[in-house]
Amino acid sequence: MKKTNIDSDITIIGAGPAGSCAAWEAKQGEIEKPVSIIEEHPQIGEPVHCSGLIALNGLQKLKLPIRDIEKKICYNKIRRAKFIAPNFKSIEIDRGSNSMGVVDRVSLDSILAERAREAGCDYYLGHRVAKIQFEKNHWKLHIKKKNQSTLLRSRILISAEGTRARLSASIGLPTPDKNWLFPAIQYEFEGVQNLETDCVELYFGRKYAPGFFGWVIPINDESARIGVAISRLFGRKTREFISRFLKKHPLLKPRIHNAIKTQQYGGLVPVSGPVNRTFHTNLMVVGDAAGQSKATTGGGVNIGGFCGRLAGITARKIIMDDFSSDNRCRNYEKLWKSYFEPNLSLMKLLRRMLTPLPDETWIKIIEIAKETDMQGFLKHTDIDLHAIGLLRYSLTPRVFIRSLNLFPQAATSLLRGLSV
Ligand SMILES: Cc1cc2nc3c(=O)[nH]c(=O)nc-3n(C[C@H](O)[C@H](O)[C@H](O)COP(=O)(O)OP(=O)(O)OC[C@H]3O[C@@H](n4cnc5c(N)ncnc54)[C@H](O)[C@@H]3O)c2cc1C
Repeated sequence: MKKTNIDSDITIIGAGPAGSCAAWEAKQGEIEKPVSIIEEHPQIGEPVHCSGLIALNGLQKLKLPIRDIEKKICYNKIRRAKFIAPNFKSIEIDRGSNSMGVVDRVSLDSILAERAREAGCDYYLGHRVAKIQFEKNHWKLHIKKKNQSTLLRSRILISAEGTRARLSASIGLPTPDKNWLFPAIQYEFEGVQNLETDCVELYFGRKYAPGFFGWVIPINDESARIGVAISRLFGRKTREFISRFLKKHPLLKPRIHNAIKTQQYGGLVPVSGPVNRTFHTNLMVVGDAAGQSKATTGGGVNIGGFCGRLAGITARKIIMDDFSSDNRCRNYEKLWKSYFEPNLSLMKLLRRMLTPLPDETWIKIIEIAKETDMQGFLKHTDIDLHAIGLLRYSLTPRVFIRSLNLFPQAATSLLRGLSV
């Protein structure tokens, strides 16, 4: 076994969007010290575990040129979302403009990594961080590549290791609650019929997607990403549910009759909500590992990427000012929470309440949403920060009064969700 020492001032674990955004920011300005990214997979962005549905204006949070991204990696643009109740009745939210993009996630991650590389960051692909230890004033990383072991010493560490957050757990930091990482399976199909290309479809109901939803995301007028995620409250057999969704759902089955499956992905949809503590001495946690995703939908690219940038800026300042890092890392947490915590925490509460809801309540919610112009209310909310908008909508007198008889069920559901 060969042992070498590489030393780095700033090291990032994980080359997803949060990690590459952190690396890029860390290397801005006059910093000449090395910034390293360690990624266990040999290819950036692979294996894919994403539907690639991204709020386009949210890409500004990643400091990416929207028009350029749209041209290069966006297959399709979306302006409407259709919510389909267990009784197959539906409500549509039309945002009036193409606010979402269906992107190629491998390309998005590669663009973010290339930008960081051009800024001077060093990527070590196919290297897995097996263990981290804090020693005096630096972190020691035990890195494995096939049968080789390497030790790396780094003054600042940014952990962007995704949902499982094994390294965070190993040093006693809180991690996303495993009960709220929902197993998902998604297929890409060619030859899907009756696709409305500017509309995503979300299917609710215990029979097909208990605790979460099934989705159809059009890539063009005949191809779509179709998937299901389920809550662990209802078991682990995602494969059975996706199979039933495809073969039995009356609104879907006839449309994929002759469709051909071209790709398959899986993953854990991050709906746990933000973790309580995202820093340690000389260390910051970003992205899914910090629960920086929307517990309502599982979307985490824009918010995690933005928080990655905040951690990168913090790391750079620590190195440039030769400053004690403790307060700075604590400040990173204060900063990202000041941007996102009210929304993310409210989404977490909503998810805890929505997941155990029985079908009858879903049917009523969709009926009320239709009667009370939810569409008009939510049309202008920020897609990445929609929880406060939803709360305002539910507190409007009309919706509040109309929903009064759902309160006992909602309270029971919330208690059940909170006890999981
Ligand atoms: C089915 C599904 C659909 C989704 N759809 C959407 C969507 O449409 N829109 C959206 O915004 N979000 C979506 N998400 C969520 C989104 O994928 C995540 O929020 C996002 O990828 C988080 O980015 P990240 O950089 O924090 O983590 P990741 O993208 O998971 O990156 C973490 C990286 O760290 C690496 N790593 C982990 N441990 C180590 C280690 N010990 N050593 C070295 N490398 C390591 C991993 O290999 C990985 O590359 C979806 C998720 C799932 C599962």
